[in-house]
Amino acid sequence: MRLKRQAVKLKKYQNIVVLSGAGISAESGISTFRDSNGLWDEHALEDVATPEGFQRNPQLVYDFYNMRRQQLLSDAIQPNSAHLELAKIEKLYGEHFVLVTQNVDNLHERAGSKKVFHMHGELQRARCTHSGTSVVITEAFDGNLPCGCCEPANTMRPDIVWFGEIPYYMDEIEKALCQCDLFVSIGTSGNVYPAANFVDVAKRMGAHTVELNLEPSAGKNNFTEHHYGLASVIVPQFFNQIN
Ligand code: NAD
Repeated sequence: MRLKRQAVKLKKYQNIVVLSGAGISAESGISTFRDSNGLWDEHALEDVATPEGFQRNPQLVYDFYNMRRQQLLSDAIQPNSAHLELAKIEKLYGEHFVLVTQNVDNLHERAGSKKVFHMHGELQRARCTHSGTSVVITEAFDGNLPCGCCEPANTMRPDIVWFGEIPYYMDEIEKALCQCDLFVSIGTSGNVYPAANFVDVAKRMGAHTVELNLEPSAGKNNFTEHHYGLASVIVPQFFNQIN
């Protein structure tokens, strides 16, 4: 009996972790943190992205995130080829691919990614400060939004991790970083911790580390491979070359 030969293409990497940042969504029309004329530019970070700012002026904070949530409903905001490529890679690698994002937009999901660790929360979620329960919300809301889980008024806040708060999914992310043999950072300036430190963890565990960004980031020296350009171009290029 003749054995049929099967062409099994070996993958170059077995376990991949991708960290995405605001730069991957820039070409989709969502301004990055540091872009001039962006939403962030008009507000002091301490006022709209800290628990103290929320305590001082909750309405300003509700309005700020309401505007950003509203922007996601616009037809002009669509995933770009970098988001689409990552959804394709997830299909190819299954549970051996972990996508961590600092972004609070929903463009990875809209591109088809099924499992996304939103370490800084999500614009389209509200969280009860009393019980911690998080619910999906696509409209504007403020302190008058009734809480579905407990009675006290004024408990719902944007489910965003502000500066000084602990990011979500840290255990899952750390586990993935310790197991990966490829770590790719896309569209992030490397200024926000602990995300900026992920490359060090992955590298210590022996992973190959790659930066895909418009320009060299603050932590560029921690990466062994770099590609600079638009995410919509360099992300598909990079993943095509390794698969
Ligand atoms: P950042 O704004 O600090 O850095 C963005 C990086 O992306 C920069 O290094 C820039 O050079 C690069 N970039 C810009 N356009 C690009 C493009 N077309 N292709 C590739 N790279 C491009 O963003 P960060 O490092 O993600 O940190 C900002 C924080 O603000 C995060 O915590 C995030 O939660 C929040 N944020 C989120 C969004 C979003 O959800 N889309 C947008 C702005 C800010």
